Amino acid sequence: MGKLLNGDRQRRWRAVPAHDDHDGRPPTTREAKRFPSRIAHLTPMDLDTPVLDDHMHLDPDHGRGIDAVEDFAHLGGTHLLVVNKPSWHLGVEPGDPDAVDPEAAGEEFREVFERTIDVVGRASDVLDGRAWPVLGVHPGLISRLVDERGFAPDDARDVMQAGIDVAAEYVADGEALALKSGRPHYEVPDAVWEASNDVMRRAFERGAEAGCAVQLHAEASEDMTEVAEWAEEAGLPADRVVKHYAGGRLAGPIPSVMSEKERLRVAVESGEPFLMETDFVDDPDRPGAVLGPKTVPRRVRWLLEEGHEDAVRRAHVETPRAVYGIDTVGTLGE
Ligand SMILES: [Zn+2]
Repeated sequence: MGKLLNGDRQRRWRAVPAHDDHDGRPPTTREAKRFPSRIAHLTPMDLDTPVLDDHMHLDPDHGRGIDAVEDFAHLGGTHLLVVNKPSWHLGVEPGDPDAVDPEAAGEEFREVFERTIDVVGRASDVLDGRAWPVLGVHPGLISRLVDERGFAPDDARDVMQAGIDVAAEYVADGEALALKSGRPHYEVPDAVWEASNDVMRRAFERGAEAGCAVQLHAEASEDMTEVAEWAEEAGLPADRVVKHYAGGRLAGPIPSVMSEKERLRVAVESGEPFLMETDFVDDPDRPGAVLGPKTVPRRVRWLLEEGHEDAVRRAHVETPRAVYGIDTVGTLGE
């Protein structure tokens, strides 16, 4: 596998005066502050490939926000898919169980989506590549609606489907890249399970109409062929369905693999399409709950050191292009 980029950026890096003493390592924060004019135009660590984190969250109000993006970029990360945080984490509680008006409830999700679109714009300014929003309704919302807010499962379904409809509008308008849906990863009553599957099917329908991929949050599994068939029935090809928080092996959708070495080894050896993610939640109350924002570039560096250039290209160029229609090479340096 040839180099993904020409040596231009590498040369610019080496052109740093010797007294900066970089030796090819990224500048420290202190150095960046001391030599801002020299450092600013440089790509801090050049892994010579696009590096995409397929699923992370950014919360500029309560978490690290753009600071986390800077960490990611500093280690060589270039592209991000930023998924909106669960609506209730942002204090948005759509709908009224005593007067269910799904359309009005759907509108309430806009605040959640707009915040994500806003932070994505700021993240793109920091990245050598760019970020894209992935918008949708977290499947855990159904439990909040049913167990804590007193919605009937069918009414909760309607509210969540309305949220998916609004998310799909942003995709249709070109403001978001993909949809997010799924079903609880924990045990729920049958009525809640069925309602959740109906929400997921709605996401597949809207994804098919908008021509976009659908990311799923779902139970741990290595076989989701049935769900992939539902997508196909709705007109969405199975290879445009992504299971987030995946292991290295998955039948049906495309796995977005949590970037732990063991999971990645399995994905690399599978020879199949895969993506890499951290599910960084950017929540100060849950430090260490998931992988940090530096993890994907670190693991890419490790894969390259192990000689897996082909797998890196698969996860960061070929699969993103096939699933989302994005060009991670052509969007570098924009
Ligand atoms: Zn997530």
